[in-house]
Amino acid sequence: MEKIKLGISTCLLGQNVRYDGGHRLDRFLTNTLGQYVEYVPVCPEVECGLPIPREAMHLEGNPNSPRLVTIHTKQDMTNRMVQWAKKRIVALEKEDLYGFIFKSNSPSCGVERIRVYNKKGMSVKKGVGILAKIFTEHFRLLPIEDEGCLHESDLRENFIERIFTLKRWREALAKKEGRGVVVDFHTAHKILILSHSPKHYQMMGKLVAKAKEIPTKELYQQYQAILMEALQLKTTPKKNANVLQHMMGYFKEQLSSDEKKELLEVIDHYRREDIPLIGPVTLIQHYVRKYDQPYLKQQVYLNPHPIELQLRNHV
Ligand code: SF4
Repeated sequence: MEKIKLGISTCLLGQNVRYDGGHRLDRFLTNTLGQYVEYVPVCPEVECGLPIPREAMHLEGNPNSPRLVTIHTKQDMTNRMVQWAKKRIVALEKEDLYGFIFKSNSPSCGVERIRVYNKKGMSVKKGVGILAKIFTEHFRLLPIEDEGCLHESDLRENFIERIFTLKRWREALAKKEGRGVVVDFHTAHKILILSHSPKHYQMMGKLVAKAKEIPTKELYQQYQAILMEALQLKTTPKKNANVLQHMMGYFKEQLSSDEKKELLEVIDHYRREDIPLIGPVTLIQHYVRKYDQPYLKQQVYLNPHPIELQLRNHV
């Protein structure tokens, strides 16, 4: 499998680039996800020319447009960082990234809830790191997360599902061109999309239905934008249970009453969060194979990311 290219804050890879000369190695990112990913390391503070070690910095001023300032000597590094970041973004465009994992709680890299201090030294957790802000505004459709959120099982699954879906989407476009690509991709991803957002599922269905009226490039752009927006919305046990019951409908004729009862019980256990999603999904996969159900066989929902990542094994 060709690896997925992700940008990452360099210190998460274990490189000693932090202000104190240390690192923040994240073994899940390097050892587990790293099997599927090629990382493009970016350390804004070092790459904009600051030394290791260096004086620690924080954000100050207006939380919507804070300054990046050294904590003790009060040197303002904002312009230096912004000028560097604008050039780095242009270079990153050529990397064909599928997403970015930022270091949390950093005034340069943090994606959300970064402390911004006022003149009295009081802080509010409303800031965004300088690079993270410029990056997210530029790459609006890319999956972006911080490593802190990736320790939460549902956010981890969501992020990884998005990067694998983006990979399938780009591969589909690279293989052939035309509106048929969108139709085929959408058909295979219907249930996955439905598990995130019935509203987006409807919107995308309408878009695909009028695909012939839309110039191809515009269709690609519109479809990808809605797809990424849909997948950003988290699945829940309730949404997944609805989708699983919807899938069960495809076996209505074949399942014995005992099999139906068992499947409904397993889905219900999952809905009540007694067992993980892998339980009912495995049972549905079994029936897909047993009854050779053609529509469900192609549904990415049953296999959206490598099983070895165990993303559906949590309650
Ligand atoms: S958080 Fe960002 S700026 Fe700080 S050391 Fe890590 S990569 Fe560099």
